[in-house]
Amino acid sequence: MKMNYKFVDFIPDNLEQGYIYISLEYNTAIHKCACGCGEEVVTPLSPTDWKLIYNGESVSLSPSIGNWSFKCQSHYWLKNNDVVWAGKMSTKQIVEGRKEDIERKKRWHSQNKSQNKILKWFKRIFKIR
Ligand SMILES: [Zn+2]
Repeated sequence: MKMNYKFVDFIPDNLEQGYIYISLEYNTAIHKCACGCGEEVVTPLSPTDWKLIYNGESVSLSPSIGNWSFKCQSHYWLKNNDVVWAGKMSTKQIVEGRKEDIERKKRWHSQNKSQNKILKWFKRIFKIR
């Protein structure tokens, strides 16, 4: 199944099935669920959310898209404009995946915190001298 892409300034009101709309302005991509259920899937682009790979011809998203909050519970990858279906996950796997996500975010923020501490420390030293 193909998923074409459109780079847009604003996310349009009516999304076309089979297209992923990418707004660099808002660091967000949005598309209608690949299963055809009509739900809109928002994938924020950030170091702790999704990563968009654009090679000039096609787009890929990482990690996979798991629509656990939708009825369809579909789970797929977007790889080079192709929807690659992933296996359905058990509730346990979903819960663990979410835990991992939270841990990843915590790690990222604590890393930033310690970097900020170092930065503050440097600033202080420079002020003193
Ligand atoms: Zn769906």
